[in-house]
Amino acid sequence: MTDHNPLLETARTTGTVPGLPDGHFIDGRFVPSADGRTMESYDPGSAKPFATFARGSADDVAAAVESASRAFDTVWRDMAPAERGRILMRASAALSDRAGEFAVVESLDSGKPYSEALGDVKGAARAFEYYAGACDKLQGDTFPLGPDYLGYSINEPVGVTAHILPWNFPISTAARGIAPALAAGCAVVAKPAEQTPFTALMLAKLLSDAGLPSGVCNVVTGVGAEAGQALVSHPLVNHITFTGSVPTGQAVMRAAADNVTRLVLELGGKSPVVVMDDCDLDQAVDGIIGAIYENAGQICSAGSRLVVEAEIQDALIDRLCQRAEALKLGHGLTDPQIGPVNSAQQLEKIAGFIDRASNRDVSVATGGKITTDPETGLGWFFEPTIAVCRDGSDELVQQEIFGPVLAVQTADDAEHAIALANSTEYALVAGVYTSNFGLAHRMARRIDAGQVFINEYFAGGIEVPFGGNRKSGFGREKGMEGLLSYCRTKAVAGRIS
Ligand code: NAD
Repeated sequence: MTDHNPLLETARTTGTVPGLPDGHFIDGRFVPSADGRTMESYDPGSAKPFATFARGSADDVAAAVESASRAFDTVWRDMAPAERGRILMRASAALSDRAGEFAVVESLDSGKPYSEALGDVKGAARAFEYYAGACDKLQGDTFPLGPDYLGYSINEPVGVTAHILPWNFPISTAARGIAPALAAGCAVVAKPAEQTPFTALMLAKLLSDAGLPSGVCNVVTGVGAEAGQALVSHPLVNHITFTGSVPTGQAVMRAAADNVTRLVLELGGKSPVVVMDDCDLDQAVDGIIGAIYENAGQICSAGSRLVVEAEIQDALIDRLCQRAEALKLGHGLTDPQIGPVNSAQQLEKIAGFIDRASNRDVSVATGGKITTDPETGLGWFFEPTIAVCRDGSDELVQQEIFGPVLAVQTADDAEHAIALANSTEYALVAGVYTSNFGLAHRMARRIDAGQVFINEYFAGGIEVPFGGNRKSGFGREKGMEGLLSYCRTKAVAGRIS
């Protein structure tokens, strides 16, 4: 464990956390659903429900969007940017102070190991800090029209922004969208995934306590086909940031088309980790293990394909198997090295991939089975798995499994490795391990991905733009580019003489 946290003990002994929010956060306060409906959230580590939350409908979404629209027009859009920044900075500090509490809730709700959840919350606090500092630096431009004219541009906030969040990184995804939206002067309505509603609700309340005016940040909980669909279809929504699967992203894009609403889509991935035979093997082993087993592989940017040069393949796989087999599985709140997967549905999906592979040219080098928490015999767990695939069109190579399954492909040389890296319909991120500086950067240019990591998978931070190409989506979050997603350019030009 990384710190002393009494709430961790409470959650471990009682299986829940006292005082979790059970309403939507609309117009500065928690409210029940208009129709009174609720639903349950499950602890993936025990497969048991641990808390109830509101199941929102189109009526709740309408109330939230109208509140955001009002707050945008009357209080937030025209607040001095430096003042907006101060509020976001106070929120960042409060989130850092309460990181342990948020991490317990995140770990219980999503299943992820407590230390990983703590890292996510600290990363969320950092996102608010970064964008707090950007509020009063969002400058426009001037245009050289000659002495008789003045031409300039203003970065205006787009208005009401909708944020559809996934269950794998609930607080991180909420923060990386909400912080820049608020910094730009937008008002927010977020819809967390139905599997992980709590930290987004807690964040909205924390922002309010930090001085954010009522209505500027609202959260409506519930299922995608109801609350989510209503939110992305609402005519007062001016921008959508969607993070989730490709089919849902396509549905969101269709809904956005009806109102001509702009959007950023952060979708799936099947990201390659390219390992050349001149790499530092220890560094590569550490990188690959983290790339595929962090959050039990449920990461859009997981390194779920290993593309390795033939000379070192066997030695590398041996070492990876030893490391995978030694990983300590357990309930997220016991801070294991690998936690459960998020839902029974997700577990079934992962197991289906491995079951089907038994009829094909695939060797499962380690893992491959459903299991449970060794301490309690409960929960939705899958063994850390490595599968060597000889056919590049195999579904283990081509499809996003979203679990702790590494698909291995063999490369003859650098050109072949690049071709394999680019051989799926996804293009989110890629990792390259080599000691050849020039080759690393040539590969970074030639691999189709939104972000390339060299000699450290997941290198980067809130400063670095993140997003995908092709079926991985479009638009970028994080960095200053992420902030500009929430702005629209107004150009002004006039005669001055
Ligand atoms: P999902 O698409 O099922 O759900 C994502 C969100 O969309 C949830 O909040 C859900 O309630 C909502 N939703 C569902 N139907 C909707 C609809 N018709 N209209 C509006 N909202 C709707 O995805 P998931 O299974 O929760 O998440 C896993 C997927 O997300 C993976 O494919 C993963 O790669 C992707 N992901 C991508 C990133 C990224 O940044 N690129 C980050 C995390 C996850």
